[in-house]
Amino acid sequence: MSTHTAPSSSVAVLPSIIIRNPATGEVAGTIAPTSLGEIECAVARARAAQPAWVALGVDARATVVKSAIDALKSRAAEMGALACAEMGKPLSEAIGEANYSADGLAREIDEIVEALRPEVLEDEKTSTRLHFDALGVAAVITPWNFPILMPAQSAVPALIAGNTVVLKPSEVSPLCADMWAQCLINVLPAGVLQIVHGDGTQGSALVRSAVDLIIFTGSRATGALIMRDAAAGLKRLILELGGKDPLIVLEDADITAAAAFAVRNSFRNSGQVCVSTERIYVADKVADAFTAAVVDGARALKQGDGALATTEIGPMASARQKKIVMDQLRGAIADGAKCLFGECDGNAASAGNFIRPTVLVGVTHAMSIMRDETFGPVASIMRVKSDDEAVALANDTPYGLGAAVFGSQDRAARVAEQLTAGMVGINRGCGGATGSPWVGARQSGHGFHSGKYGHRQFAQMRSVSRAR
Ligand code: NAD
Repeated sequence: MSTHTAPSSSVAVLPSIIIRNPATGEVAGTIAPTSLGEIECAVARARAAQPAWVALGVDARATVVKSAIDALKSRAAEMGALACAEMGKPLSEAIGEANYSADGLAREIDEIVEALRPEVLEDEKTSTRLHFDALGVAAVITPWNFPILMPAQSAVPALIAGNTVVLKPSEVSPLCADMWAQCLINVLPAGVLQIVHGDGTQGSALVRSAVDLIIFTGSRATGALIMRDAAAGLKRLILELGGKDPLIVLEDADITAAAAFAVRNSFRNSGQVCVSTERIYVADKVADAFTAAVVDGARALKQGDGALATTEIGPMASARQKKIVMDQLRGAIADGAKCLFGECDGNAASAGNFIRPTVLVGVTHAMSIMRDETFGPVASIMRVKSDDEAVALANDTPYGLGAAVFGSQDRAARVAEQLTAGMVGINRGCGGATGSPWVGARQSGHGFHSGKYGHRQFAQMRSVSRAR
């Protein structure tokens, strides 16, 4: 069990947040929430620290942040164990997340530095230099599903751009995020990065405080609240929100590969991934073979406590998350969906926070499970008669984060062209090559991160022109 006191920002009068291991119910640790007054003080300290931080210049800032990499690497196993205990993901995946955040950091920082170098535009008469300046103080608010990676992906580009940062990680998984932040805080000048703790009360207070930029990753509903709260100050927003990603399986797809992808992408992290496959549209002709392969894949997965070496999928991160998924699942079954395997298949219900990987057929877009983000281990399969029908159904959503199409290359590419999503994968997941942005369309995103254009969102562009 781990007991943390937030760095110089905890106030004893607020009751501690108790973090329970979702697999066992044991207390994984406690953390002191930050008082609202102290959040104001943290933002004031960040404001005071920002001029000296920006004055260092982008290369020196990059060097300082890189000097945390050794500590991040040496604490990766410890951080991963905390993440596993806090939100239940398998230990190997949790340590992998911590290692990925550390190993990729030097290259990521170099990419950010290059993106922020001035760019020159010229025509016959004018020479213009585009500068990428700091915005000031950034609030970073993150979710629990990738509790180490999300703070890293949001705070680092903000820092390299010359902003100072106040980070509020999820109340579900604050301990591993705190450990990640302390590795950086130890090498940064005072006040450049601070961490505050708490739930939506602290998150909302941070949004309404005197920050200039809000970098939020979380649900669409919270994103809307943040937009509302940020409106009075017209604060700059980067909102990375939820998704309802479709997978389209065409009649000429490699069914084995498509089913393997569906199993991995529907059930990984117990479906608690923003780009999880949540809706599957499969051509009638291949639907039976595809569905049977997905059921086989679901049956083969080993579920249990993430701390066990054999576990491939863990529990839901919380009772709250389990309830959201079970309400959708029960609603779908009440409205005529059929469970081929998993929770609600007639066998005893899973105990505690567990939900068995579940395969549903007979679903329709009238059901919440096909409309609202599920964020659980459910593969919902719908048969379609044509590519056009698959496209129409895939686009029938307010979300637009990722999408995937499996089929022969040209045909799948034609279908992919018609999808309204920020990231589309053809015969693979939606993550792009090095340097690609992580971007959502429609209500899945408002601003984005990563890649040259993503890194520039953490900065204010300034154009300076002179005659040639
Ligand atoms: P959430 O929206 O409930 O909470 C996210 C964070 O916001 C937490 O730190 C929470 O304390 C804070 N918060 C809550 N209310 C707030 C308020 N009114 N003002 C400010 N902050 C507030 O989301 P969650 O359940 O932690 O995470 C799951 C969601 O995150 C899913 O919707 C998932 O798709 C999304 N997500 C998106 C991406 C992406 O890249 N687009 C990545 C990971 C997760």
